[in-house]
Amino acid sequence: MSTIVQKYGGTAVGTVENMQRIADEVIRKKQEGYNIVIVVSAMGKTTDNLIEMAKSISNNPCKRDLDMLMATGEQVSISLLSMIFNEKGYDAISLIGAQAGIRTEGIHTRSRIVEIDIGRVKRYLEEGKIVVVAGFQGINEFGDITTLGRGGSDTTAVALAAKLQCTCEIYTDVEGIYSVDPRLFPEAKKLDYISYEEMMEMSSLGAKVMESRSVEIACKYKIPIYVASSHKRTKGTYIKEIDKDMEQKSITGLSVSDNVLMVTISRIPYSPENISKIFGKLASQEVNIDMISQTSPQGGYVNISFTANKEDEPTVNRVMEELKNEIFTMEVKKDNNITKISVIGMGMRNEPGVASKVFHLFADNSINFKQVTTSEISISYTIDASDKQKAINVLCKAFNL
Ligand code: ADP
Ligand code: ASP
Ligand code: MG
Repeated sequence: MSTIVQKYGGTAVGTVENMQRIADEVIRKKQEGYNIVIVVSAMGKTTDNLIEMAKSISNNPCKRDLDMLMATGEQVSISLLSMIFNEKGYDAISLIGAQAGIRTEGIHTRSRIVEIDIGRVKRYLEEGKIVVVAGFQGINEFGDITTLGRGGSDTTAVALAAKLQCTCEIYTDVEGIYSVDPRLFPEAKKLDYISYEEMMEMSSLGAKVMESRSVEIACKYKIPIYVASSHKRTKGTYIKEIDKDMEQKSITGLSVSDNVLMVTISRIPYSPENISKIFGKLASQEVNIDMISQTSPQGGYVNISFTANKEDEPTVNRVMEELKNEIFTMEVKKDNNITKISVIGMGMRNEPGVASKVFHLFADNSINFKQVTTSEISISYTIDASDKQKAINVLCKAFNL
């Protein structure tokens, strides 16, 4: 009998009525003869609300406690959904991450799945049960509950599919993967398929429709993913290996991220030791640095700008204060009103000139960029948040997205 993993996001399980509708869809699939594992997120904005509550107590709450708190959101969803299945006459079992055998490592709130002890899930499937697993969480080597980073239910679903060697279906509040977030550009085109590589790049650069680690796992284990609407039966998008039928546009999509903190440190006495001290300290505190730029030395001093995620701001502040005790002249300026906008496409590998086209478009439309970085299949620009919508419109029209 074939197995399938289906994941339902926060909106999909936002109310008990929505859960009833999902249950009917799942039962239809079950009647077709599939073994079914359902992975669910917390209901609606539950995770945001839990974080708000924690922040009302502390600016920097203990991350172990935060994991303990956030993991409760998914526990509510699995228990309710399982009750619904049982009430409809279908045998179901709810499992939190630890019970589903999801073992993690790494720091709290950003843990990674290291292994899944799949025995228990398999046993329930063999007994004909619908297995309902809490997304976004696992258990670490100390027996503590951990979470996988925001959007991590996608990762739970894909990792389970990889372990069970089956397809993964992601049901969400849009009808598939679009060239750009349809909430930012309503005329965005829905894609029939997208390669793992492009989806990974789009996700890691800000498209939250799929959590980037989940796509990484799918790519590694060659798990096909189908992304579609949880409430409409329209055709969605396949995320899969590139094949000859795929259209090779120079630009497939555009990602936008507002989760950018830009830090500029000026008056650093120029020495490689100082630069390495700054980034070494940030790395030791697990601050993920994205873009870096440095001015050439003037009068013995250099300025450095880097970007990080906004949630790392308290840690960045702490590190900067420590550094000021060692590099006395340095001055720090932070900018929170920054947007990172990235163009992504496999075709870029063979087609030069994309960066220059964007530079021209920005110049013609008076959009100033601050930093630029490139990878083999993407180019990212940081701009003022006030230019965000203009930049999205200009780029989507120019690249027919
Ligand atoms: P879920 O709760 O189902 O996991 P998310 O909110 O995490 O849903 O992800 C779905 C959202 O991702 C959409 O509502 C949409 O605004 C956003 N999104 C960002 N980029 C894209 C894109 N390229 N295609 C589709 N949706 C996108
Ligand atoms: N509930 C978690 C979040 O909001 C995980 C998820 O939805 O994927 O980030
Ligand atoms: Mg999500």
